[in-house]
Amino acid sequence: MPQTFDDFHFDQALSDGLSSMGYLKPTPIQDQAIPVIMQGRDMIACAQTGTGKTAAYLLPVINEIIHTDHRHLNALIIAPTRELAQQIDQQIEGFAYFTGVSSIPVYGGGDGAAWDQQRKALEQGADIVIATPGRLIALLAGGTVVFDHLKHLILDEADRMLDMGFFEDIVRIISYLPKKRQTLLFSATMPPKIRQLANKILDNPAEINIAIAKPAEGILQQAYVVHDAQKTALMDHLLKTHNWNSVIIFASTKEMVKKLGHAFAKAGRSSRAFHSDLEQAEREDIMRAFKARQLNILIGTDVLSRGIDVEGISAVINYDVPPDPEDYVHRVGRTARAETTGTAITFINEADQRKFYTIENLIGKEVPKMPLPEFLGAGPAYEPEKRKKVHGRPQGRGSHPKGQKRHFRRR
Ligand code: AMP
Repeated sequence: MPQTFDDFHFDQALSDGLSSMGYLKPTPIQDQAIPVIMQGRDMIACAQTGTGKTAAYLLPVINEIIHTDHRHLNALIIAPTRELAQQIDQQIEGFAYFTGVSSIPVYGGGDGAAWDQQRKALEQGADIVIATPGRLIALLAGGTVVFDHLKHLILDEADRMLDMGFFEDIVRIISYLPKKRQTLLFSATMPPKIRQLANKILDNPAEINIAIAKPAEGILQQAYVVHDAQKTALMDHLLKTHNWNSVIIFASTKEMVKKLGHAFAKAGRSSRAFHSDLEQAEREDIMRAFKARQLNILIGTDVLSRGIDVEGISAVINYDVPPDPEDYVHRVGRTARAETTGTAITFINEADQRKFYTIENLIGKEVPKMPLPEFLGAGPAYEPEKRKKVHGRPQGRGSHPKGQKRHFRRR
């Protein structure tokens, strides 16, 4: 199993895009799907939003397009909604920033000018088209957009497209495409209708199933929506008002773990920070003390969430929202092990709201947002859908000058 993106031997320009987007290691679906897609096989993958499924198909497809001499409409991605089509396009923009690979989103809505622009852009050509079914059918029926050389077809969130009544449209779109192509189908669920579609359009597909473990029922999950400045006082309050004898506090960075460690030590708490800068022997000592209940509070990063197996932890507190939804499941899973009960509390600041919303989607459950203690004053409103998306384009290299947006390929 590859552990890093280097193991896929992507083109350097694509690797540069990946690192500037801050992707360090592949998620499980990326681990499993990328090698299969690179072999050229068809694939059916059961994976939800939040697993990294978009990059799982975009990266190998972009990589192949970089190495293709003959450029044309090479890949078609069909997605249920305009929002998803836009998000996919943004991810391509980030990954392909240094590669010259171009994309165009095609979706309904907008005025006549938008329609004209999409049609013209498609006629001029792009490497990747991301389309919603309705708009694509209309363009195909016009006869000016030709997919004769298409190599990859990707159906994203296929179950949602079928729920929206797009089965016939998808079959019709496929009738316009070359028979010899690679087809990848992604779906969060696998109802019989998806199987039926898969049998119709996939050829001897590899099957991948990324089942996300859900937190055990015994865990009482709660969240507080806070400003950063309120976190310390809230933490104090929780530790004072609960009778927890064994608590793990998670933070996403080593720096934050160390900072909390210092603050707790200063306050005379029975606590230790646990991070990779400590010697192995020191780490073992800390862990032993924690297991023996000589130490009440352990502060650590996500490395700790996967490694430790301590029975009877009373509470887990997430000082911030973990970047990877799976880490949330791992973090809160440290409590309520082996049928016991436990509490998992997450602090959500403004910037983390969107991430937490993805987590709630993934675990299929809304985590109750608790009122802040009165002395702390009001926290921010919880409106994750209005908050900015975290990823999108390379960071720190300047943004795309508007006029150079790569949708239209230079010929
Ligand atoms: P998706 O499941 O494709 O909707 O992705 C969920 C989120 O995870 C998106 O914001 C991606 O940008 C992010 N993401 C996907 N793969 C990785 C990775 N390997 N490392 C860091 N972030 C990732």
